[in-house]
Amino acid sequence: RFNRLNDRELLHTQAFIDGAWTEASDNAKFSVIDPSTSKEIGTVPDMDAEDTRRAIAAAHQAFGTWRKATTVQRNSVLSKLSKLLAEHKEDLATINTLESGKAIGEVEYAQSFGDWFAEEAKRIYGDVIQASSPEQRYMVIRQPVGVCGVITPWNFPLVLVVCKVSAALAAGCTVVIKPAPETPYTALALAELAIRAGVPKGVINVITTSKHIKEVGQELCTNSLVRKIAFTGSINTGKHIMQQCATGVKRVLLELGGNAPFIVFDDADIEAAVEGLIGNKLHNAGQVCVAPNRIYVQSGIHEKFSQFLVHRLKCLRMGNGFDDEVQIGPMISEHARRKVLGQIEDAVKRGGRVLLDGRQKEVDDPSYADGFFLFPTVISEISADALVNREETFGPLLAINVFSTEEEAIALANNTNAGLAAYLYTNNVNRIFRMSEAIEAGAVNVNGGMALDAATPMNGVKESGIGVEGSKYGVEEYMNKKLIAIGIE
Ligand code: ADP
Repeated sequence: RFNRLNDRELLHTQAFIDGAWTEASDNAKFSVIDPSTSKEIGTVPDMDAEDTRRAIAAAHQAFGTWRKATTVQRNSVLSKLSKLLAEHKEDLATINTLESGKAIGEVEYAQSFGDWFAEEAKRIYGDVIQASSPEQRYMVIRQPVGVCGVITPWNFPLVLVVCKVSAALAAGCTVVIKPAPETPYTALALAELAIRAGVPKGVINVITTSKHIKEVGQELCTNSLVRKIAFTGSINTGKHIMQQCATGVKRVLLELGGNAPFIVFDDADIEAAVEGLIGNKLHNAGQVCVAPNRIYVQSGIHEKFSQFLVHRLKCLRMGNGFDDEVQIGPMISEHARRKVLGQIEDAVKRGGRVLLDGRQKEVDDPSYADGFFLFPTVISEISADALVNREETFGPLLAINVFSTEEEAIALANNTNAGLAAYLYTNNVNRIFRMSEAIEAGAVNVNGGMALDAATPMNGVKESGIGVEGSKYGVEEYMNKKLIAIGIE
């Protein structure tokens, strides 16, 4: 499969510490699986806490110099890295598709973060503050926080690394990346491009691990040389990381799970709402933290909406991400697939009406019969306490609930511990403002899809996270504000 690569040097099967490709100290390795065939595509080192300490020491050493690089130097290196992402778009997509199965491209999105933060490196400002006393002068300078641990999931193996690492480097921080065990090759390819872009040794390190995730995580969260953890993943793991970071009062940037409401009012454009739902829900087979999870349709259009949705879904093709005609790729693992199957069973048991049963549909191409595929499933009239209404689905299950009034829609939307994204379809301008302000979420998308744009802030409220990624606020997360108070005569 890797024969598809134009530049074979992008494929590394070793971890990356202090500018060198390296094995685990005990030479252990683990397998990486292609989710569209369930077969091994290769191995990478299975590193432990000792290896992690080596990477942290390298990042600490490199911080001494990188923190002093001028903003022009940081901009130049990050711009080169971003250009290289663009030049190697096809190969990065190939590696990404092989290990995550994804049928959509994320490289352009990742590159847009690279570009954005290369520019932001030039826009780091301080302040001068008027002192209350005539004998003092105050200024505030921004300085990089230090070594950052970057822990990322498998669903966006490139974007979620690039948006953290480029912001951290723009600020003058150095990083130790721990990618998900499912998708290490994408992070290692990024390290290769970082070398080519002139990122100095030790500034970016990549630790691959599967068996020792807990110990590696603990080392990153408790080692006193690490000053911040930037994490994307589940709410439970995020809480655990935050607890560990509390021992050393480390800063955290947490982008955790969502449980996005998708609300459609009677006055909405039904076709646009259905297209918006399909586009946002089935992107990456539903394995996206901002994907619509709880669908609420007003009673007047409920039947029509459901029928049109099923009609549209039936036209979609499921298969391997390398096939251009495919819109639905595999899920990441059998475990992930089973979770969704469990939610379907639970919804049916609680009286849900199955309008489209994706469990019946096989993948068209028999060579992928062993892949982790699941076709979209639509269930209507679900009880409020069904699992799908309470937990994040992370898969192609579309569960439709009916509501009557705006007040009810707000109460339903906010009845969750999560608060990442929300979707709203209505043509009533007053309602747009009322609802957008009332919904508890980091982003409310009205009459359209999630703004996947490096210029916009990505952040969660409630248990969906702490801190901002992307946008003009993104670099700030990796900087301290130091007050310098000067006494004068
Ligand atoms: P997901 O369900 O998306 O895999 P996780 O939160 O389990 O979500 O995983 C996100 C990232 O967190 C992955 O890189 C995973 O290896 C890592 N991870 C899981 N458990 C821990 C832990 N105890 N400490 C640190 N990182 C962890």
